[in-house]
Amino acid sequence: MLLVDKATFPRDKCCGDGLTTLALRLGEQLGLDPTPIGSWQPVGAAVIHSPSGRSVRFPLPRGEGRYAAVVPRRDYDAALLRLTRAAGTEVIEGQAATGIEVDDTGATVIIDEIGRIRATTVVAADGMWSPIRRTLGLSTSDDRGQWHAFRQYVSNVGPEAADLHVWFEGDLLPGYAWSFPLPDGRANVGFGILRGGPVAVGATGRIWDELMDRPSIRSVLGDHALPEDRRTAWPIPAKVDRAVLTHGPVLFVGDAAAATDALTGEGIGQALLTGVLAGQAVLSGLPPVDVAEIYRRSVRRELVADHRMSMVLQAVLARQAGARAAVRLAGATQWTRKNFARWMFEDYPRALLATPRRWSRGVMSAPGAYAAR
Ligand SMILES: Cc1cc2nc3c(=O)[nH]c(=O)nc-3n(C[C@H](O)[C@H](O)[C@H](O)COP(=O)(O)OP(=O)(O)OC[C@H]3O[C@@H](n4cnc5c(N)ncnc54)[C@H](O)[C@@H]3O)c2cc1C
Repeated sequence: MLLVDKATFPRDKCCGDGLTTLALRLGEQLGLDPTPIGSWQPVGAAVIHSPSGRSVRFPLPRGEGRYAAVVPRRDYDAALLRLTRAAGTEVIEGQAATGIEVDDTGATVIIDEIGRIRATTVVAADGMWSPIRRTLGLSTSDDRGQWHAFRQYVSNVGPEAADLHVWFEGDLLPGYAWSFPLPDGRANVGFGILRGGPVAVGATGRIWDELMDRPSIRSVLGDHALPEDRRTAWPIPAKVDRAVLTHGPVLFVGDAAAATDALTGEGIGQALLTGVLAGQAVLSGLPPVDVAEIYRRSVRRELVADHRMSMVLQAVLARQAGARAAVRLAGATQWTRKNFARWMFEDYPRALLATPRRWSRGVMSAPGAYAAR
């Protein structure tokens, strides 16, 4: 097995760095140990701020494992790569795939300085712009992403920023602004907007300039919060129901398969999940055409119902009244607060209504990840 990435690790990736329960559980199953990652920040509670100014705190269950955590992608991706090497995969960093030729028995990938490499299956985990997809002539004009999101690291944040905060600001809906906690008084702060929504991507500079000074955001970050380094922005693809998932022996995963959640813009768990599904399809040992069919079927089964439910919820949150009502309902009682927090971070039960096969006892009470620690 060979893994090629054009970056040299550790490297930054424009991201909110938030790990959902799905990402945490899959990381645990893959053997990822958070202990040596000093920047790994478990999340104890989420605070949701409604466009009305109302704020509701949702504590995550304690003592039953982790449901959410934040870790800079610089450290998280490097840890995943170490895990991959330890599992026996040959890893080549700093080399880009620049071309691909496919045939009935496999593919030949052209790598920068290395040249031609022959493979039975190619898993294209090459992100939002997927050069492999583009080289194969499969990219379309709506491959610019459904969301556009912006991120900045901030230091010297106040104690309120130890929780994970989401602000449904009226002008950003159905998008939102966030502050995700990191150790040592730091936070990952950013916002995302829906492409084609009320805010044009070109008009986001002015939002950046005043975002941290909005009273409800400043009151959480504190008066001494200082932006670090540069701002970054990147598109988010969220259309797994109509993305190209395979092409001959090529399986697209993660952002290359537009697998990001259409409601929250979270894609780390989905990238891990599609990667695992691709691996399982390859392990069937069947010819490429069957591997591709197994993969497409498993992605549809695991992700498309969740995607459709996220699209319904996205439409609710697109209106101020919808966002206000959602926060009010979620915070109505202790029971709704507890279950909303789990529902928000657990991708799996979010589409329960639409997926009867998930109706089993305990689906809303399964422990989080790393419960044995
Ligand atoms: C601002 C922002 C905030 C976000 N916040 C969150 C969050 O809090 N939680 C969450 O779960 N998701 C979040 N996401 C989404 C998440 O970042 C992506 O869904 C996730 O990174 C997808 O992983 P991936 O491995 O598919 O792609 P990527 O992480 O983009 O990785 C693609 C890899 O392919 C390599 N590559 C590219 N081209 C080539 C080539 N030609 N040859 C070889 N290698 C190549 C790159 O170097 C890179 O390492 C956010 C996204 C944005 C933009």
